[in-house]
Amino acid sequence: MTNKTFAIIKPDAVNNRYTGKIYDRILQTGFTILSAKLLKMTLAQAEGFYAVHRERPFYGELTTFMSSGACMVLALEKENAVAAWRETIGATNPEEAAEGTIRKDFATSLGENAVHGSDSDENAEKEIAFFFTESELISNK
Ligand code: UDP
Ligand code: MG
Repeated sequence: MTNKTFAIIKPDAVNNRYTGKIYDRILQTGFTILSAKLLKMTLAQAEGFYAVHRERPFYGELTTFMSSGACMVLALEKENAVAAWRETIGATNPEEAAEGTIRKDFATSLGENAVHGSDSDENAEKEIAFFFTESELISNK
């Protein structure tokens, strides 16, 4: 059974012109792209999206960065999508990310780490709904 995850190609990666390379990794790793759009978040949107981290010391820096430029948001589908995408992107800190992962190859730093990935099925559903309406998602059924 397939399920969904939510990804962001973050502003550092878009700025560094890695959007196409990362999009290709997504396709080559076997994900189905249910929807994708390029957008620039407002600070309020970034604060809402990362609300779970609001008590963390990096919250201000993170939300400022995420609203600093264009990013691409994607709804992805695959078997065990959440775990598969986390494996594809690698550890949060690119210095700790495994060879061949997206963060190893394209991230700038711990904060500006190229991509986002949901951490659970429940959060994936919430994060997809934060950026996409149901009718924007491709239905394969
Ligand atoms: N982050 C940061 N400093 C830290 C930890 C995280 O700037 O010490 C940023 C980084 O961009 C990360 C995001 O906050 O991707 C969310 O953190 P989380 O722990 O959820 O990592 P992720 O799930 O993205 O791997
Ligand atoms: Mg996380």
